[in-house]
Amino acid sequence: MKYYLYTIGMFLTSFAATLVSIFVVGRIIYATFGKPSDFVLFLVIVPVFFVALLGSMRLYAKYIHLSCPECGSKLKMDNRPGTPVTYHCEKCNYLYRTSMTIGSR
Ligand SMILES: [Zn+2]
Repeated sequence: MKYYLYTIGMFLTSFAATLVSIFVVGRIIYATFGKPSDFVLFLVIVPVFFVALLGSMRLYAKYIHLSCPECGSKLKMDNRPGTPVTYHCEKCNYLYRTSMTIGSR
């Protein structure tokens, strides 16, 4: 259950961070340059989206982490798209596989 909550928490956090970043950057663009064209908006929003998404996921994993039930050290989350999200302990090789998969391959 805690793995499930942790995974959901990461996605909610990164989703919220992404929305807020896009909102803030959008406000800055509008305040500075007026209404940009769709193309310019697209060029700015896409990198902001990825930086905010990946950045917030990294920060989440860095500051909030689960400890291994076997040895107590930090569990590493593996969330590659297309494979179930797993938690792995580098010290004792404990592995927990969730049933959640990101992406659809
Ligand atoms: Zn361990």
